[in-house]
Amino acid sequence: MSIAERRRVLVTGGAGFLGSHLCDRLLKEGNEVLCIDNFVTGSKANIEHLLFDPNFELLRHDVTFPLYVEVDAIFNLACPASPIHYQHDPVQTTKTSVLGAINLLGLAKRLKCPIFQASTSEVYGDPDVHPQHEEYWGNVNPVGPRACYDEGKRCAETLFFDYHRQHGLEIKVARIFNTYGPRMLPNDGRVVSNFVVQALKGEPITIYGDGEQTRSFCYVDDLIEGFIRLMNSDASFTGPVNLGNSTEFSIAELAALVLELTGSRSRIVRLPLPQDDPRRRKPDGTRAAERLGWSAKTPLTDGLRATISYFDSRMSATSVRTIKAATVGVRE
Ligand code: NAD
Ligand code: UDP
Repeated sequence: MSIAERRRVLVTGGAGFLGSHLCDRLLKEGNEVLCIDNFVTGSKANIEHLLFDPNFELLRHDVTFPLYVEVDAIFNLACPASPIHYQHDPVQTTKTSVLGAINLLGLAKRLKCPIFQASTSEVYGDPDVHPQHEEYWGNVNPVGPRACYDEGKRCAETLFFDYHRQHGLEIKVARIFNTYGPRMLPNDGRVVSNFVVQALKGEPITIYGDGEQTRSFCYVDDLIEGFIRLMNSDASFTGPVNLGNSTEFSIAELAALVLELTGSRSRIVRLPLPQDDPRRRKPDGTRAAERLGWSAKTPLTDGLRATISYFDSRMSATSVRTIKAATVGVRE
């Protein structure tokens, strides 16, 4: 059954960056959406345009507690995604991934409905295989500062596959690579939002380390298309499947591009590289292309233009809080 035929879809973390775009897309396709969020990093501003839509319902709820609702499909996105946010309360981060997965898988089991997990390229850790393909088991430090997120997501994947094998649940596991776009928080701490906000404010661009570490940046609209294709794929296709853009950039290249596109005169400052920061990251997109007919299409320049324009209008409309805490203070 395709998502387009379904009536009621649960989106956990629906007030977050990706979750709010997913809610938009599901509503546009004629579904009813039940959005649940505890607002730890999500924002009501991300979904305020949906609040009067009769097909949209919002529930404040923490996924570490059981949830009793009736839906036809579940997208589990609840979890802070930015390193500064997930490291702020690491125990709660692990609980969110692990207890959240247990609660939502239990719900899916009772309802006999398909369930999607927003997993992450972080399951590969600091990879020694490049690009990362889904058969690679990863290189994760289980006791480092990123472990609450990486190991939490890895355990969630384990739970998804065990519920699939043990209870026959229809699961869909996406490993999401760095995604950016409108509705990221200005103080999110992730590199794209940091650089864009810093450039627009004329503040120093904070490159951690030598800037030679790489990431591959996917524009949000491309990613949401991948989510929908995965949920609509054949029931036998569980994933895991990498969803990300396969064009790799160094962080120094990203900084230069943001400066060029904003016309900013911000200077670049170097700050220490955080512990366990992966040196290289780029998805092998073969499985996504073969099984979903999907690949990321938006060039970084186009996606950055849309993101810059979002932050520009947001900053002119409201006075944006300083992002210093996200870049320097929190890491001190
Ligand atoms: P985000 O922080 O904007 O969104 C996460 C949402 O989950 C927020 O609205 C937050 O309030 C909510 N949340 C957190 N803990 C919760 C809890 N215990 N109960 C209920 N709600 C809770 O981050 P995002 O970028 O939109 O990421 C969404 C999902 O995608 C996350 O699971 C993340 O791990 C995954 N992901 C994102 C990226 C990316 O580049 N954006 C990459 C890999 C994986
Ligand atoms: N980064 C940076 N300056 C910033 C924020 C991040 O140089 O202001 C670097 C960070 O060290 C990492 C890369 O950019 O190497 C991507 O960081 P992000 O937090 O966006 O995502 P992740 O590390 O989870 O891929």
